[in-house]
Amino acid sequence: MMEENIFLKNRKTMNLADYMKAQENGRENLGAELPVAVYRLLEYSIREELASRFGKEKQIEIFRSAGFRAGTYFAEKYLDSSLELSEFTAQLQKRLEEFKIGVLRIEKFDEETGKMVLTVSEDADCSGLPLLGETVCNYDEGFLAGILTSYTGKPYNATEVNCWATGDRVCRFRADIDE
Ligand SMILES: [Zn+2]
Repeated sequence: MMEENIFLKNRKTMNLADYMKAQENGRENLGAELPVAVYRLLEYSIREELASRFGKEKQIEIFRSAGFRAGTYFAEKYLDSSLELSEFTAQLQKRLEEFKIGVLRIEKFDEETGKMVLTVSEDADCSGLPLLGETVCNYDEGFLAGILTSYTGKPYNATEVNCWATGDRVCRFRADIDE
């Protein structure tokens, strides 16, 4: 029989917020930043692995829902949901730049329906990609939907309609409340 490790006995189940907290003071010398190359290496290797195991449709679904978790966490941790919309979006723009995720613009917002068109330039996920004939920022779709859902309390989804990978120079997302 294997001996029990007393240090593991009462270990808690870590969730996303716990893992995020753990990284805050972990790297005395190397610090908190990483090159975009490392981010993309992680993103696109996982993408390939998921697509080859489960097919492309499932891979997209997983990226979207993982992005949604991240967006929900991001909104709760780094954004003030009590702000009114224009202040909230200004804060969101600022945070996305601080974290070097991308440069956000709100192109359109319909107060009545909640429909929104947002663009992200210099997006961390796809900037510089060649024309592939399809959008690739499914993680960002979920990320933005998570943020908007968390802020409004309404079930938002977001769909990328333009991307570097469709020959554009910005990523453009339509965000909509799910009925
Ligand atoms: Zn894109």
